[in-house]
Amino acid sequence: MTRTRIFSNLTARMITIVIIMHLLFLNILYFGLGAVVEKGYKSQFVDYVRADAFNFAANMSGSSKLVNNINIRALEEAVLTGRTVFLRVIDKNNNVVEEIGEIVQSRRFVEDFIFGGSADNIYHIEAALYDLNNEHLGKIQIGYDETDTQEQIDLAYQRCFLFSVIYALISFIFTIYFGQRMTRPIQSLQKLTRTIAHGHYQTRVEVKTNVVEIESLATTIEFMREELVAQSDSMEHLALHDSLTGLPNRVLLQDRVNQTVNCEIQKEHPCVLVVIDLNRFKEINDSFGHLIGDSVLKKTAAKLVNALRVSDTVARLGGDEFAIFLPETTIDSAMLVIEKMTVELSRPFECEGHSVILGASIGLASFPEHGISYEDLLQKADVAMYVAKRAGINSQIYQSTFDQDALLRLTLISELKLAIDNEQLFPTYQPKINLQSNELVGVELLVRWLHPERGVIPPNDFIASAERGGLISQLTQWVLRAGIKQASIWYESGQEIPVAINLSPKNLVEEGLYQSILSLLEEYKLPAYLLELEITESSMFADPLTAKSVLEALHDAGIKIAIDDFGTGYSSLVQLRKMPISVLKIDRSFVTNMATDTSDAAIVNATVYMAHMLGMKVVAEGVEGIETLNKLKEIKCDIVQGYYFSKPLKINDLENWRQSRM
Ligand code: C2E
Ligand code: CA
Ligand code: CA
Repeated sequence: MTRTRIFSNLTARMITIVIIMHLLFLNILYFGLGAVVEKGYKSQFVDYVRADAFNFAANMSGSSKLVNNINIRALEEAVLTGRTVFLRVIDKNNNVVEEIGEIVQSRRFVEDFIFGGSADNIYHIEAALYDLNNEHLGKIQIGYDETDTQEQIDLAYQRCFLFSVIYALISFIFTIYFGQRMTRPIQSLQKLTRTIAHGHYQTRVEVKTNVVEIESLATTIEFMREELVAQSDSMEHLALHDSLTGLPNRVLLQDRVNQTVNCEIQKEHPCVLVVIDLNRFKEINDSFGHLIGDSVLKKTAAKLVNALRVSDTVARLGGDEFAIFLPETTIDSAMLVIEKMTVELSRPFECEGHSVILGASIGLASFPEHGISYEDLLQKADVAMYVAKRAGINSQIYQSTFDQDALLRLTLISELKLAIDNEQLFPTYQPKINLQSNELVGVELLVRWLHPERGVIPPNDFIASAERGGLISQLTQWVLRAGIKQASIWYESGQEIPVAINLSPKNLVEEGLYQSILSLLEEYKLPAYLLELEITESSMFADPLTAKSVLEALHDAGIKIAIDDFGTGYSSLVQLRKMPISVLKIDRSFVTNMATDTSDAAIVNATVYMAHMLGMKVVAEGVEGIETLNKLKEIKCDIVQGYYFSKPLKINDLENWRQSRM
């Protein structure tokens, strides 16, 4: 320890101060007390010897003779017993009459007035003697021994010194003791704050002390600790929970699943991990805005929590994806829970006066059958959820064959780029028939992929991958060129058959779409009215301003815009009226069963009526039977498309189909 560090130690400081104070105080004590005692002894001695000497003189005065027998005996006795060292009687002629005791002859008699005056340890006093008539007879000289008193004085000084030392020692011991007592709580406070600084907040700050300042310091530190605990609790909550719904997040879910599947006892029990993806959330978000979207997510979270036990964990994985962990549950009882939940989720939500049905795709994976770790289970449940989504069913339990599908989708993305370059894609055309004239009024181009190993892959299996993999722009370019080329071939041979091309939502907001379409039309010398673009409702609401300006430019160039899959989104016709739309395609989910389902029929009927009011032509997709066709005729639908007339056909087959119709 360096000197400064010693001095910054509280106990050391106290001891130093005590030492300095005591050095001063002991000096005063030692010299002050000593001096007082010394003075007392000395004056006591002087008083005594003076009184004694004059007593002698008085006794010897008053007789005619200087020395007689009585006197001599008294003098001798005094020298033998008292402090008197010697006595000498001298007559008025200065002759020594009597001498008793040790007398150093060589020394001259000099009277002392202060103690220790003649440095021979003898105090000399002279007193005059008188006769009866007060006549001067002579004098008496007495020497008193000073050693005794000097010894007493020395002893007093020694005692003073001893007292001082004892006092100093006791003070030191007390100072050290109390100093330590006082600094011990400070030290333990220091230790506690150090543990707090290292992140261990759990021990309460308590010190035993009756020093008010230290006590209040301890209280302050305890208050600080409690604040830290509260703060770290809320930080932990934030780190482990989703801020929107308050549900546990991925991290907490992972923790809970791992705790269960890694616990020895739990290993005996099966448990189930469920992944839930909402079906139409994106459309709600796009159509109603994020605030409504958020409130739908919150309500969904509440629905999920209500449908479950307390021991189950509902987590939000992100976006519109949720997960549920059901400990100690078999896959069969999990399915019962899921059924209950599906009923809950398929009840309509109220959104700004619209009642919205969400629906969900649910995948389940079970421990230990499908996986023994969180990652495993989540991946399997995810795969099962995708399968459910693609199959259009509510829920699906994981099966080992699904992995190949997932793998397939992944490899497809990497192969799709090559497919576009290597002309593995081919167009099919589905005819559109005018209901009144029964004539072909156009075709819809539906793309296919002829995979060298897997055969023909339908668009539903690769369009979404292309969108996610950033290939949709290239794919759309390919389709546009194919469609415009075909239409121009027909046009050159004098047939006007409009070709409809499907656009992805992403296409509409990407730069250069308008330019590339116009230059293709120019390249193939095709009039714009022979091109139709089909877009879905959701693609208009992701970025309404951009969408509107692009659509307006295309419309102004003479290209027809059709709304595809109408009825599955949440746009109303009123909203669509602001867009330059000339055709409305009613989704086949309403059309196919309208002959038997009266509410589907009512929807189609109302839509046709309203669309006509707004000056749009109506196409009904998915017409499969004659009853449907008749119903559509009845309600004055303009155009129909569906298997009843033809599936999508390769160009040669289409030409054959047209020939046969003629
Ligand atoms: P979509 O635009 O709604 O196309 C209609 C789909 O319904 C086609 O499926 C068609 O074969 C099918 N369909 C037609 N009539 C009937 C019927 O009477 N009954 C039934 N059950 N189905 C019928 P496809 O060809 O498998 O296409 C699926 C979806 O893939 C299309 O739905 C479209 O959204 C997308 N798609 C197809 N080609 C392209 C493309 O070139 N670009 C983009 N972005 N999407 C495309
Ligand atoms: Ca379409
Ligand atoms: Ca459609």
